[in-house]
Amino acid sequence: MNRTAQSVWDNCLEFINDNIQPQAFKTWFEPIIAVKLTENALSIQVPSKFFYEWLEEHYVKILKVSLNKELGENAKLVYIIKMENTYGNKQPFTEKIPSANRTSLKSQDVDVPFNNKNPELRNPFIIPGIRNVKIESQLNPSYNFENFLEGDSNRLARNAGIAVANKPGGTSFNPLLIFGGVGLGKTHLAHAIGVDIKDKYPDKTVLYISSEKFTQQFIDSVKSNTRNDFIHFYQMIDVLIIDDVQFLSGKAGTQDVFFHIFNHLHQNGKQVILTSDKAPVDMQDIEQRLLSRFKWGLSAELQAPDFETRISILQNKLFRDGVQMPDDIVEYIAKNIKSNVRELEGVIISMIAQASFNRREFSLELAKQIVDKFVKNTKKEVSIDYIQKEVSKYFDMDVATLQSKTRKRHIVQARQLAMFFAKRLTKTSLASIGNQIGQRDHATVLHACKTVDNLTETDKQFRKYVDDLTKKLTF
Ligand code: ADP
Ligand code: MG
Repeated sequence: MNRTAQSVWDNCLEFINDNIQPQAFKTWFEPIIAVKLTENALSIQVPSKFFYEWLEEHYVKILKVSLNKELGENAKLVYIIKMENTYGNKQPFTEKIPSANRTSLKSQDVDVPFNNKNPELRNPFIIPGIRNVKIESQLNPSYNFENFLEGDSNRLARNAGIAVANKPGGTSFNPLLIFGGVGLGKTHLAHAIGVDIKDKYPDKTVLYISSEKFTQQFIDSVKSNTRNDFIHFYQMIDVLIIDDVQFLSGKAGTQDVFFHIFNHLHQNGKQVILTSDKAPVDMQDIEQRLLSRFKWGLSAELQAPDFETRISILQNKLFRDGVQMPDDIVEYIAKNIKSNVRELEGVIISMIAQASFNRREFSLELAKQIVDKFVKNTKKEVSIDYIQKEVSKYFDMDVATLQSKTRKRHIVQARQLAMFFAKRLTKTSLASIGNQIGQRDHATVLHACKTVDNLTETDKQFRKYVDDLTKKLTF
């Protein structure tokens, strides 16, 4: 068998293609060129440093898995960065970087009490059977205070975070609850506090975990009869950071166990940091006793950043990526993307990607196209309720009629249209669409979508319904 860089890479691509979104594959993998193969190292050429960083940040796992399959356990990946004449660099140049050379936080040693009868702690962060265990902090060092820009919108939360990092467990901000909408920096700030604590107090055990993962671990521990180990594990932590606690809602068992862990940590002067997409008063299905604990410390809100802050966030991002962009373009983006920092960054990433793959200049026109896409995507998120209301209104009936069990043709059609648009305009599953539109099952929804597709092609009147409703629902 004669293996070449190309054949090995082709196999990797096949595997990767099966496992990621088509758009992502097109954007990040198609432009890569396989260059060289030695015994266990494959060199691939990527178009920019940014590109390399992006692959390392988002796709390093899948790259590793696919390469291991091809070249065995010791497989190595080497990036060759070939800078074309983009971003005003005069000469194209290349640079070689091995995969995964990022600095990461060291793992932390913790002594598990001897009296622990079952040394096999069923916790993914523990090496089983060893008394002195290592706990990975799960912190992302690239989320730090330095690159979390301050503005009116986040001043309180950011400064409270700094205060907590200076004196973990020693301020009245315990717990510190950071809340705010999607993409406003909750996760970033939570990591930043942890990263700063590890810098200042290397001996403290810090653990970052999402509430989903926490819940899953708890469920696993119940299944394997190691609930006590689970609790002990968390009680050893000095700084516990739990992200997105709104996901604990309705999960009574997990809330209960968290309540005990929380009390133990709090009583022992350990720091707890929580994030949530809502203020405690607005949280639903969270036990009262837990809610009251959340309110003990400080709840600090992250609001949408104002224009100036948006500009500085964009400029900082560009600076870090080593990219220059004219001011008018930066201002255009900041003016049009208002309520989500992740989207601000998304626009910059798309701009850089477009510019480097298609050899396009940064232009206001390109910015407009990309911003439009982002804005449309957010607008597109209509609710199924809204779809039902609009469709009913269009056909002059009320929502109850649309949902009713009747087989009258015009009502059936209205219902099918509602299902069709729910499928097209939301990310909801067929089953859930059926459930929300008159308690039907997923097969009915599937049938509805097919019927609408067929009628749209064969029936002119019907096509007009679809066109009219599309306009109503998407503008
Ligand atoms: P959330 O957890 O609230 O949904 P994230 O913490 O994931 O939001 O933030 C989304 C993106 O926006 C991240 O890439 C983060 O680095 C960035 N970000 C948010 N706020 C700021 C800020 N004040 N300065 C710099 N970057 C920010
Ligand atoms: Mg988050």
